[in-house]
Amino acid sequence: MFKNTNEKNSALWARREKAIPRGIGSMHQRFSVKAKNAELWDADGNRYIDFATGIAVTNTGHGDPRITEAVKAQIDDFSHTCFQVTPYESYVALAEKLNGLAPGDTPKKTIFLSTGAEAVENAIKIARAATKRTGVIAFKGGFHGRTMMGMALTGKVAPYKMGFGTNIPSIYHAPYPVPYHGVTEEVSLEAIADIFKSDIAAEDVAAIILEPVQGEGGFYAASPSFMKALRRLCDEHGILLICDEIQTGFARTGKLFATEHSGVEPDLMTIAKAMAGGFPISGVIGKADVMDAALPGGLGGTYGGSPIGCVAGLTVLEIIEEDNLCARADAIGALFTKRLKAIRDAGAVEIGEIRNCGAMIAIEIVQNGDVDKPDPARTGSIVKAAADKGLILLSCGIRGNVIRFLPALSASDEILLEGLQILEEVIAN
Ligand code: PMP
Repeated sequence: MFKNTNEKNSALWARREKAIPRGIGSMHQRFSVKAKNAELWDADGNRYIDFATGIAVTNTGHGDPRITEAVKAQIDDFSHTCFQVTPYESYVALAEKLNGLAPGDTPKKTIFLSTGAEAVENAIKIARAATKRTGVIAFKGGFHGRTMMGMALTGKVAPYKMGFGTNIPSIYHAPYPVPYHGVTEEVSLEAIADIFKSDIAAEDVAAIILEPVQGEGGFYAASPSFMKALRRLCDEHGILLICDEIQTGFARTGKLFATEHSGVEPDLMTIAKAMAGGFPISGVIGKADVMDAALPGGLGGTYGGSPIGCVAGLTVLEIIEEDNLCARADAIGALFTKRLKAIRDAGAVEIGEIRNCGAMIAIEIVQNGDVDKPDPARTGSIVKAAADKGLILLSCGIRGNVIRFLPALSASDEILLEGLQILEEVIAN
């Protein structure tokens, strides 16, 4: 049985550099050995407050005993048979629950996969099968994964596309509306109209895919009016609207799904990350007739909808309801915003904008409050110095100058304020 050697961070890092290719980055040279709710501990015995949740995965906190129990019971029964060989009830039960919870009244169906990128791949396959068209419009600054289609849809070249060959044909990128950067909704919509004029006929476009709040791109939320405008555009041209809820889903933004803020019903929705509190499962939820367009055997995968992920997913949905995590996400967003404003008012001129959608919270780091002077170096140094003081942060952003906060929704106010205190000290120095 594998046992940790109890080596320290530096020795483990040296082994990592020899054994693992540089293409996989790690933001911190700190090896996790234990994590509980909103805290984690590294191989040197340091304790951290975790504002990263493994990139928006452990919304329910590390190691919620209700999830652990459900998973243990499932492993005692069986851990894998493959849904495509001898199916199991938890897959069907999770699909039934999500079909009822997804935005809109149209009857839904759901498939499960293993990773976010795989969900995106399948959503595009389904959209192509349903429309018999190939084109896809995505957004600059968007992130949809590292597989070939995920990469093609992603709207950022470095580091995601460099050296990996030319893009898949029939994918076009429009600017995502970010009023703070001077990109209005009108500019975005006009750019799509331009794509229809100069690149691909609307009748050849299968889908428009977007994140209702851009994640890796910098935590920019699409307004309800923009979402509605996209819905109208799609309806007008027979295009399917795909909402990528992989980072925004499962109570993170104060709703179960961020798309709910707009009242729009997407045709397809991709889910992953927080849906199972750390167990690898993803899915595509969609309108039943659209989901049924792919022929039998055209969808799936050996591990897709693993029984472990399914029982964890069912438990996560129970926890979100029992613990009222949507309301908690809003409360956390308000707590952060208040404290971050106080930090800025105390003289942190590098905080250009403070924004949040529930507990999807970010600050944009710029020189002297100037939106046109992004400061990725300062951003990196804040993230590093915070880790030295016991706070795990993540950066993001198309310009590399955003610090995002993704705390567990189960974290107490006390621990969140302790983390923000560390941030204040780091910024002050
Ligand atoms: N879409 C979005 C919006 C994401 O945030 C991510 C992951 N950061 C992905 C897709 C890809 O998910 P995965 O890393 O599980 O493949």
